[in-house]
Amino acid sequence: MGSPLLQPMWDFVLSKEYCIRSPFYPVFFSFTVYVVFCLPYLILDFLSPVIPVLKTYQIQPRTNVTLTMVAHCLVHTIYSHLVFIFPVTVAAWYWRPVYLPAVAPQLHLLVRDVISCLLLFDFQYFIWHLLHHKVPWLYKTFHKMHHKYTATFALATQYSSAWEMLSLGVFAGLTPVMLGCHPMTEMAFFIVNIYLSVEDHSGYDLPWSSHKLIPFGLFGGPGHHDLHHEKFVFNYAPYFTHWDKLFNTLAKQPTK
Ligand SMILES: [Zn+2]
Ligand SMILES: [Zn+2]
Repeated sequence: MGSPLLQPMWDFVLSKEYCIRSPFYPVFFSFTVYVVFCLPYLILDFLSPVIPVLKTYQIQPRTNVTLTMVAHCLVHTIYSHLVFIFPVTVAAWYWRPVYLPAVAPQLHLLVRDVISCLLLFDFQYFIWHLLHHKVPWLYKTFHKMHHKYTATFALATQYSSAWEMLSLGVFAGLTPVMLGCHPMTEMAFFIVNIYLSVEDHSGYDLPWSSHKLIPFGLFGGPGHHDLHHEKFVFNYAPYFTHWDKLFNTLAKQPTK
């Protein structure tokens, strides 16, 4: 028997089975979730120059996000989704048929598996990221593009080279497969992962930011990744802090 809380949600998802089974679904899902999570931060970016209190939450308050920056990043994201992500997701769809069991997972198993996926993804990205900073050729060829903006803003999240987009896409796609997750857990992980990556680049340290909700400094939050964009040599892990602590590459934003 599925979780009484998750089963109605899963039944709703199953009622849209014809969409989920489409080869267009993965790229549509990934792009839509990304834009929806970016939107509130973009609204903040355009309101903060006229509502001074909002600037107090901005990590680098001297940054003003312009329409040109937004358009530049958005066009790049649309291009990447059409030219690189779409063919790869269609190949993955062909290689691994969509599996939709009738029963939803138990809530505690979904939570446990989403956390496991985040930990595994964080580890893979940390290694990839460290390597792409320590090897100058890798940095210049593949990762430098993502460092165009030294102050983060939401749409800079996916402003990166094709190789970086595909590597992260493969890590995110394979992680729930390696851990044998339920398809609902896989969807939940994708949504949480996209949210956290956008929050990392949002440029705002809000009262509900992830590092304030997760205790003991286990999580870096947006300040952690913004400092990586500003200083380049710290904070290589995207979410958790343990790998940077272990490798002595952890740094904190100076308190304002
Ligand atoms: Zn970097
Ligand atoms: Zn970044």
